[in-house]
Amino acid sequence: MPEQQPLVLRGGAFFESDSRTFVRGDVLCIDGRIAGLGEVEAPEGAAAIDCAGEYLIPGLIDCHVHISSSGDPAELTPGQRLSLARRAWRTAEHARATLAGGITTVRDLGAADRLNIDLARAVEGGEVEGPRVLAAGMGVTMSGGHGHGFIAREADGADEVRKAVREEIRAGAGAIKLFASGGVLTPGVDPRSPAFTRDELTAGVEEATKAFRTVAAHAQSTEGIKNAVAAGVTSIEHGVWLDEEAIAMMIERGTYLVPTLTAPYHIAYGAEAGIPEYAVEKGQAVLEDHIASYERALEAGVKVAMGTDQGTPLNRPGENAQEAVRMADHGLSPAAALLAAGGWAADLLELAEETGRLRVGLAADIVRLSEDPLVDIRCLTRPAALAGVVKGGRPAGSTGGTI
Ligand SMILES: [Zn+2]
Repeated sequence: MPEQQPLVLRGGAFFESDSRTFVRGDVLCIDGRIAGLGEVEAPEGAAAIDCAGEYLIPGLIDCHVHISSSGDPAELTPGQRLSLARRAWRTAEHARATLAGGITTVRDLGAADRLNIDLARAVEGGEVEGPRVLAAGMGVTMSGGHGHGFIAREADGADEVRKAVREEIRAGAGAIKLFASGGVLTPGVDPRSPAFTRDELTAGVEEATKAFRTVAAHAQSTEGIKNAVAAGVTSIEHGVWLDEEAIAMMIERGTYLVPTLTAPYHIAYGAEAGIPEYAVEKGQAVLEDHIASYERALEAGVKVAMGTDQGTPLNRPGENAQEAVRMADHGLSPAAALLAAGGWAADLLELAEETGRLRVGLAADIVRLSEDPLVDIRCLTRPAALAGVVKGGRPAGSTGGTI
Protein backbone atom coordinates (compact mmCIF):
# COMPACT_ATOMS: atom_id res chain seq x y z
CA MET A 1 0.00 0.00 0.00
CA PRO A 2 1.31 3.52 -0.76
CA GLU A 3 2.44 5.59 2.19
CA GLN A 4 -0.49 7.28 3.85
CA GLN A 5 -0.80 11.04 3.60
CA PRO A 6 -1.06 12.70 7.03
CA LEU A 7 -4.42 14.32 7.71
CA VAL A 8 -5.42 17.15 9.99
CA LEU A 9 -9.02 17.88 11.00
CA ARG A 10 -9.00 21.60 11.71
CA GLY A 11 -11.12 23.92 13.77
CA GLY A 12 -13.65 21.53 15.32
CA ALA A 13 -14.23 20.25 18.83
CA PHE A 14 -13.42 16.65 19.76
CA PHE A 15 -15.17 14.39 22.29
CA GLU A 16 -13.04 13.59 25.30
CA SER A 17 -14.32 10.32 26.76
CA ASP A 18 -13.01 10.88 30.31
CA SER A 19 -14.57 14.31 30.86
CA ARG A 20 -17.53 13.47 28.60
CA THR A 21 -17.28 16.91 27.03
CA PHE A 22 -16.20 18.45 23.74
CA VAL A 23 -12.85 20.23 23.69
CA ARG A 24 -11.96 22.71 20.97
CA GLY A 25 -8.91 21.70 18.98
CA ASP A 26 -7.49 19.99 15.92
CA VAL A 27 -6.94 16.28 15.37
CA LEU A 28 -3.77 15.16 13.62
CA CYS A 29 -3.69 11.72 11.99
CA ILE A 30 -0.41 10.12 10.95
CA ASP A 31 -0.06 6.56 9.62
CA GLY A 32 -3.69 5.91 10.48
CA ARG A 33 -3.28 6.84 14.15
CA ILE A 34 -4.15 9.90 16.18
CA ALA A 35 -0.83 11.74 16.53
CA GLY A 36 -2.02 14.94 18.19
CA LEU A 37 -5.08 16.56 19.73
CA GLY A 38 -5.57 20.24 20.49
CA GLU A 39 -2.88 22.54 19.18
CA VAL A 40 -1.09 20.45 16.60
CA GLU A 41 1.61 21.10 14.07
CA ALA A 42 0.77 19.38 10.81
CA PRO A 43 3.73 17.96 8.89
CA GLU A 44 4.45 19.28 5.42
CA GLY A 45 2.23 17.77 2.76
CA ALA A 46 -0.57 16.90 5.19
CA ALA A 47 -4.11 17.00 3.86
CA ALA A 48 -6.48 19.22 5.82
CA ILE A 49 -10.24 19.12 6.31
CA ASP A 50 -11.97 22.23 7.58
CA CYS A 51 -14.09 21.10 10.53
CA ALA A 52 -15.04 24.54 11.81
CA GLY A 53 -18.27 24.29 13.81
CA GLU A 54 -18.14 20.48 13.82
CA TYR A 55 -18.25 17.94 16.63
CA LEU A 56 -15.80 15.06 16.25
CA ILE A 57 -16.65 11.81 18.04
CA PRO A 58 -14.93 8.41 18.07
CA GLY A 59 -15.96 6.16 15.18
CA LEU A 60 -18.98 4.18 16.35
CA ILE A 61 -18.71 0.51 17.30
CA ASP A 62 -21.59 -1.90 16.74
CA CYS A 63 -20.99 -4.99 18.91
CA HIS A 64 -23.69 -7.10 17.27
CA VAL A 65 -24.24 -7.22 13.52
CA HIS A 66 -24.91 -9.78 10.81
CA ILE A 67 -23.37 -7.71 8.08
CA SER A 68 -23.96 -10.26 5.33
CA SER A 69 -27.71 -9.74 5.81
CA SER A 70 -29.46 -6.69 4.37
CA GLY A 71 -32.43 -6.46 6.73
CA ASP A 72 -34.78 -7.28 3.87
CA PRO A 73 -37.64 -9.32 5.43
CA ALA A 74 -37.76 -11.50 2.29
CA GLU A 75 -34.38 -12.94 3.26
CA LEU A 76 -36.21 -15.05 5.84
CA THR A 77 -38.50 -16.64 3.28
CA PRO A 78 -37.42 -20.23 2.61
CA GLY A 79 -35.97 -20.64 -0.87
CA GLN A 80 -34.81 -17.04 -1.07
CA ARG A 81 -31.21 -17.92 -0.32
CA LEU A 82 -28.89 -16.36 -2.91
CA SER A 83 -25.72 -17.95 -4.20
CA LEU A 84 -22.57 -17.48 -2.14
CA ALA A 85 -21.03 -15.17 -4.76
CA ARG A 86 -24.00 -12.82 -4.83
CA ARG A 87 -24.15 -12.75 -1.04
CA ALA A 88 -20.45 -11.87 -0.95
CA TRP A 89 -20.92 -8.95 -3.36
CA ARG A 90 -23.84 -7.70 -1.31
CA THR A 91 -21.84 -8.06 1.87
CA ALA A 92 -19.17 -5.77 0.41
CA GLU A 93 -21.88 -3.21 -0.29
CA HIS A 94 -23.25 -3.55 3.25
CA ALA A 95 -19.75 -2.92 4.58
CA ARG A 96 -19.44 0.33 2.62
CA ALA A 97 -22.88 1.46 3.80
CA THR A 98 -22.04 0.61 7.41
CA LEU A 99 -18.85 2.67 7.31
CA ALA A 100 -20.64 5.57 5.60
CA GLY A 101 -23.13 5.50 8.49
CA GLY A 102 -20.35 6.29 10.95
CA ILE A 103 -19.62 2.74 12.13
CA THR A 104 -15.87 2.10 12.00
CA THR A 105 -15.85 -1.22 13.91
CA VAL A 106 -18.32 -4.10 14.06
CA ARG A 107 -18.45 -7.47 15.77
CA ASP A 108 -20.28 -9.88 13.46
CA LEU A 109 -21.98 -12.58 15.53
CA GLY A 110 -22.80 -15.17 12.92
CA ALA A 111 -22.84 -15.54 9.16
CA ALA A 112 -23.68 -18.40 6.83
CA ASP A 113 -20.55 -19.71 5.09
CA ARG A 114 -18.50 -17.59 7.53
CA LEU A 115 -18.71 -14.65 5.15
CA ASN A 116 -17.91 -12.42 8.12
CA ILE A 117 -14.40 -13.89 8.40
CA ASP A 118 -13.76 -13.34 4.69
CA LEU A 119 -15.07 -9.79 4.99
CA ALA A 120 -12.75 -9.10 7.93
CA ARG A 121 -9.82 -10.22 5.77
CA ALA A 122 -10.98 -8.30 2.70
CA VAL A 123 -11.28 -5.07 4.70
CA GLU A 124 -7.93 -5.69 6.35
CA GLY A 125 -6.37 -6.29 2.95
CA GLY A 126 -7.86 -3.11 1.49
CA GLU A 127 -9.98 -4.99 -1.07
CA VAL A 128 -13.27 -3.80 0.38
CA GLU A 129 -13.96 -0.49 2.09
CA GLY A 130 -15.70 -1.11 5.37
CA PRO A 131 -15.47 -1.09 9.14
CA ARG A 132 -12.94 -3.15 11.06
CA VAL A 133 -14.65 -6.54 11.51
CA LEU A 134 -14.31 -8.79 14.54
CA ALA A 135 -15.93 -11.93 13.15
CA ALA A 136 -17.40 -14.85 15.08
CA GLY A 137 -17.62 -17.11 12.02
CA MET A 138 -20.66 -19.32 12.60
CA GLY A 139 -22.40 -19.18 15.95
CA VAL A 140 -22.64 -22.42 17.95
CA THR A 141 -26.14 -23.61 18.92
CA MET A 142 -27.74 -26.84 20.16
CA SER A 143 -29.49 -29.16 17.69
CA GLY A 144 -32.64 -27.39 16.57
CA GLY A 145 -31.63 -24.28 18.53
CA HIS A 146 -31.96 -20.64 17.52
CA GLY A 147 -29.95 -19.77 14.41
CA HIS A 148 -29.49 -23.37 13.22
CA GLY A 149 -29.26 -23.84 9.48
CA PHE A 150 -28.67 -20.13 9.04
CA ILE A 151 -26.06 -18.26 11.10
CA ALA A 152 -25.13 -21.06 13.48
CA ARG A 153 -23.86 -24.65 13.47
CA GLU A 154 -25.19 -27.32 15.79
CA ALA A 155 -23.36 -29.05 18.63
CA ASP A 156 -24.55 -31.14 21.59
CA GLY A 157 -22.71 -31.98 24.77
CA ALA A 158 -19.62 -30.28 26.18
CA ASP A 159 -17.20 -32.11 23.87
CA GLU A 160 -19.02 -31.16 20.69
CA VAL A 161 -19.28 -27.54 21.81
CA ARG A 162 -15.56 -27.58 22.58
CA LYS A 163 -14.81 -28.95 19.12
CA ALA A 164 -17.11 -26.46 17.38
CA VAL A 165 -15.45 -23.53 19.14
CA ARG A 166 -12.01 -24.86 18.21
CA GLU A 167 -13.10 -25.21 14.60
CA GLU A 168 -14.44 -21.64 14.45
CA ILE A 169 -11.13 -20.39 15.84
CA ARG A 170 -9.26 -22.50 13.31
CA ALA A 171 -11.38 -20.93 10.56
CA GLY A 172 -10.30 -17.48 11.73
CA ALA A 173 -12.94 -16.36 14.21
CA GLY A 174 -11.83 -13.41 16.33
CA ALA A 175 -14.73 -13.81 18.77
CA ILE A 176 -17.08 -16.65 19.74
CA LYS A 177 -20.88 -16.70 19.73
CA LEU A 178 -22.85 -19.26 21.77
CA PHE A 179 -26.64 -19.60 21.97
CA ALA A 180 -27.92 -19.86 25.53
CA SER A 181 -31.63 -19.55 24.74
CA GLY A 182 -34.25 -19.65 22.02
CA GLY A 183 -34.97 -16.59 19.91
CA VAL A 184 -37.48 -14.68 17.85
CA LEU A 185 -36.61 -15.39 14.22
CA THR A 186 -36.25 -19.18 14.13
CA PRO A 187 -39.69 -20.76 13.55
CA GLY A 188 -40.78 -23.09 16.34
CA VAL A 189 -38.14 -21.88 18.78
CA ASP A 190 -39.38 -20.13 21.94
CA PRO A 191 -37.22 -17.22 23.17
CA ARG A 192 -38.27 -18.06 26.76
CA SER A 193 -36.64 -21.48 26.64
CA PRO A 194 -33.03 -22.02 27.74
CA ALA A 195 -30.74 -23.76 25.20
CA PHE A 196 -27.19 -24.93 25.95
CA THR A 197 -26.70 -26.32 29.46
CA ARG A 198 -24.30 -24.67 31.89
CA ASP A 199 -21.79 -27.47 31.19
CA GLU A 200 -21.95 -26.93 27.44
CA LEU A 201 -21.55 -23.16 27.84
CA THR A 202 -18.67 -23.59 30.27
CA ALA A 203 -16.83 -25.83 27.78
CA GLY A 204 -17.30 -23.24 25.03
CA VAL A 205 -16.11 -20.38 27.20
CA GLU A 206 -13.09 -22.38 28.32
CA GLU A 207 -11.99 -23.05 24.72
CA ALA A 208 -12.53 -19.44 23.67
CA THR A 209 -10.69 -18.07 26.68
CA LYS A 210 -7.73 -20.36 26.05
CA ALA A 211 -7.43 -18.73 22.62
CA PHE A 212 -7.90 -15.19 24.04
CA ARG A 213 -11.32 -14.79 22.40
CA THR A 214 -14.26 -13.10 24.07
CA VAL A 215 -17.63 -14.86 24.12
CA ALA A 216 -21.00 -13.36 23.25
CA ALA A 217 -24.03 -15.32 24.39
CA HIS A 218 -27.37 -14.95 22.70
CA ALA A 219 -29.58 -15.10 25.79
CA GLN A 220 -33.18 -13.99 26.13
CA SER A 221 -34.73 -16.35 28.70
CA THR A 222 -33.93 -15.77 32.38
CA GLU A 223 -32.49 -19.24 32.88
CA GLY A 224 -30.44 -19.01 29.69
CA ILE A 225 -28.98 -15.69 30.82
CA LYS A 226 -28.00 -17.11 34.22
CA ASN A 227 -26.45 -20.20 32.63
CA ALA A 228 -24.36 -17.99 30.33
CA VAL A 229 -23.24 -15.56 33.06
CA ALA A 230 -22.32 -18.46 35.36
CA ALA A 231 -20.30 -20.02 32.52
CA GLY A 232 -18.31 -16.78 32.26
CA VAL A 233 -19.35 -15.28 28.92
CA THR A 234 -18.18 -11.74 28.20
CA SER A 235 -21.52 -10.32 27.08
CA ILE A 236 -25.19 -11.16 27.21
CA GLU A 237 -26.83 -10.32 23.89
CA HIS A 238 -30.46 -9.14 24.10
CA GLY A 239 -31.05 -10.03 27.80
CA VAL A 240 -34.81 -9.80 27.37
CA TRP A 241 -35.92 -11.34 30.67
CA LEU A 242 -33.47 -10.24 33.36
CA ASP A 243 -34.51 -10.79 36.97
CA GLU A 244 -32.84 -9.41 40.09
CA GLU A 245 -30.62 -12.45 40.46
CA ALA A 246 -29.43 -12.30 36.85
CA ILE A 247 -28.61 -8.60 37.23
CA ALA A 248 -26.71 -9.25 40.47
CA MET A 249 -24.74 -12.06 38.78
CA MET A 250 -23.82 -9.77 35.88
CA ILE A 251 -22.61 -7.02 38.19
CA GLU A 252 -20.59 -9.45 40.26
CA ARG A 253 -18.88 -10.92 37.20
CA GLY A 254 -18.61 -7.73 35.16
CA THR A 255 -20.68 -9.22 32.34
CA TYR A 256 -21.75 -6.72 29.67
CA LEU A 257 -25.28 -6.33 28.35
CA VAL A 258 -25.65 -5.63 24.63
CA PRO A 259 -29.40 -5.02 24.54
CA THR A 260 -30.04 -4.71 20.76
CA LEU A 261 -33.28 -2.78 21.35
CA THR A 262 -33.51 -2.02 17.62
CA ALA A 263 -34.14 -5.65 16.61
CA PRO A 264 -37.48 -6.30 18.39
CA TYR A 265 -38.57 -2.72 17.70
CA HIS A 266 -38.51 -3.28 13.94
CA ILE A 267 -39.88 -6.81 14.16
CA ALA A 268 -42.80 -5.71 16.36
CA TYR A 269 -43.79 -2.95 13.95
CA GLY A 270 -42.94 -4.76 10.73
CA ALA A 271 -46.05 -6.76 9.77
CA GLU A 272 -46.89 -4.58 6.74
CA ALA A 273 -43.31 -4.74 5.56
CA GLY A 274 -43.67 -8.48 5.10
CA ILE A 275 -42.06 -9.82 8.27
CA PRO A 276 -43.55 -13.29 8.85
CA GLU A 277 -46.50 -13.32 11.28
CA TYR A 278 -44.87 -15.76 13.70
CA ALA A 279 -41.93 -13.37 14.11
CA VAL A 280 -44.12 -10.25 14.54
CA GLU A 281 -46.11 -11.94 17.31
CA LYS A 282 -42.98 -13.01 19.13
CA GLY A 283 -41.41 -9.55 18.58
CA GLN A 284 -44.32 -7.73 20.17
CA ALA A 285 -44.35 -10.01 23.20
CA VAL A 286 -40.65 -9.42 23.66
CA LEU A 287 -40.39 -5.65 23.21
CA GLU A 288 -41.97 -4.32 26.42
CA ASP A 289 -40.23 -6.83 28.69
CA HIS A 290 -36.98 -6.17 26.86
CA ILE A 291 -37.07 -2.42 27.49
CA ALA A 292 -38.01 -2.96 31.15
CA SER A 293 -35.05 -5.35 31.62
CA TYR A 294 -32.66 -2.88 30.00
CA GLU A 295 -33.86 -0.06 32.24
CA ARG A 296 -33.50 -2.18 35.39
CA ALA A 297 -30.01 -3.26 34.34
CA LEU A 298 -28.93 0.36 33.78
CA GLU A 299 -30.31 1.42 37.12
CA ALA A 300 -28.38 -1.36 38.85
CA GLY A 301 -25.15 -0.39 37.08
CA VAL A 302 -24.69 -3.28 34.62
CA LYS A 303 -22.08 -2.42 31.97
CA VAL A 304 -23.65 -1.83 28.55
CA ALA A 305 -22.41 -1.52 24.96
CA MET A 306 -24.15 -0.76 21.69
CA GLY A 307 -25.24 -3.54 19.36
CA THR A 308 -28.07 -3.48 16.84
CA ASP A 309 -28.42 -7.08 15.64
CA GLN A 310 -28.25 -5.43 12.20
CA GLY A 311 -29.46 -7.85 9.55
CA THR A 312 -32.66 -8.73 11.41
CA PRO A 313 -35.75 -7.55 9.48
CA LEU A 314 -35.68 -3.82 8.57
CA ASN A 315 -32.50 -3.42 10.63
CA ARG A 316 -30.32 -2.20 7.79
CA PRO A 317 -26.56 -1.69 7.36
CA GLY A 318 -25.64 1.98 7.79
CA GLU A 319 -28.56 2.74 10.08
CA ASN A 320 -26.78 1.25 13.11
CA ALA A 321 -26.57 4.52 15.09
CA GLN A 322 -30.30 4.34 15.79
CA GLU A 323 -29.45 1.94 18.63
CA ALA A 324 -27.47 4.64 20.47
CA VAL A 325 -30.57 6.84 20.27
CA ARG A 326 -32.77 4.05 21.69
CA MET A 327 -30.28 3.40 24.50
CA ALA A 328 -30.52 7.12 25.34
CA ASP A 329 -34.32 7.17 25.03
CA HIS A 330 -34.49 4.50 27.71
CA GLY A 331 -32.04 5.81 30.27
CA LEU A 332 -28.53 6.71 29.09
CA SER A 333 -27.43 10.34 28.96
CA PRO A 334 -26.32 11.45 25.48
CA ALA A 335 -22.67 11.38 26.61
CA ALA A 336 -23.11 7.86 28.01
CA ALA A 337 -24.74 6.77 24.74
CA LEU A 338 -21.61 7.97 22.89
CA LEU A 339 -19.53 5.90 25.30
CA ALA A 340 -21.75 2.83 24.85
CA ALA A 341 -21.10 3.14 21.12
CA GLY A 342 -17.45 4.08 21.64
CA GLY A 343 -15.14 3.48 24.57
CA TRP A 344 -17.29 0.99 26.45
CA ALA A 345 -17.86 -1.04 23.29
CA ALA A 346 -14.10 -1.09 22.67
CA ASP A 347 -13.59 -2.28 26.26
CA LEU A 348 -16.04 -5.15 25.71
CA LEU A 349 -14.38 -6.20 22.45
CA GLU A 350 -10.92 -5.90 24.05
CA LEU A 351 -10.04 -3.29 21.42
CA ALA A 352 -9.49 -0.38 23.83
CA GLU A 353 -5.83 -0.21 22.82
CA GLU A 354 -6.91 0.10 19.21
CA THR A 355 -10.04 2.26 18.90
CA GLY A 356 -13.15 3.61 20.64
CA ARG A 357 -11.74 6.86 22.04
CA LEU A 358 -10.09 9.95 20.63
CA ARG A 359 -6.68 9.52 22.20
CA VAL A 360 -3.12 9.87 20.89
CA GLY A 361 -1.86 6.49 19.71
CA LEU A 362 -5.24 4.97 18.92
CA ALA A 363 -6.57 4.45 15.39
CA ALA A 364 -7.84 7.66 13.80
CA ASP A 365 -11.48 6.48 13.65
CA ILE A 366 -13.59 9.61 13.72
CA VAL A 367 -17.15 10.70 12.90
CA ARG A 368 -17.67 14.37 11.98
CA LEU A 369 -21.02 15.82 13.03
CA SER A 370 -22.40 19.24 12.15
CA GLU A 371 -24.59 19.18 15.27
CA ASP A 372 -23.80 18.70 18.96
CA PRO A 373 -24.85 15.12 19.93
CA LEU A 374 -24.86 16.10 23.63
CA VAL A 375 -27.68 18.51 22.84
CA ASP A 376 -29.55 16.15 20.53
CA ILE A 377 -28.32 12.55 20.27
CA ARG A 378 -30.73 12.02 17.34
CA CYS A 379 -28.30 13.88 15.09
CA LEU A 380 -26.38 10.57 14.86
CA THR A 381 -29.19 9.27 12.65
CA ARG A 382 -29.69 12.41 10.54
CA PRO A 383 -27.80 12.08 7.25
CA ALA A 384 -27.59 15.89 6.99
CA ALA A 385 -25.75 16.04 10.33
CA LEU A 386 -23.16 13.43 9.31
CA ALA A 387 -20.40 15.56 7.81
CA GLY A 388 -17.96 12.73 7.21
CA VAL A 389 -16.35 9.56 8.49
CA VAL A 390 -12.63 8.89 8.88
CA LYS A 391 -11.32 5.37 9.45
CA GLY A 392 -7.65 4.73 10.11
CA GLY A 393 -6.88 8.32 9.11
CA ARG A 394 -8.58 8.01 5.71
CA PRO A 395 -11.88 9.66 4.79
CA ALA A 396 -14.55 7.03 4.05
CA GLY A 397 -15.40 6.94 0.38
CA SER A 398 -11.86 7.95 -0.57
CA THR A 399 -10.36 4.48 -0.92
CA GLY A 400 -13.21 2.56 -2.46
CA GLY A 401 -11.38 -0.72 -2.01
CA THR A 402 -9.52 -2.40 -4.82
CA ILE A 403 -12.42 -4.44 -6.17
ZN1 LIG B 1 -27.85 -11.55 16.25
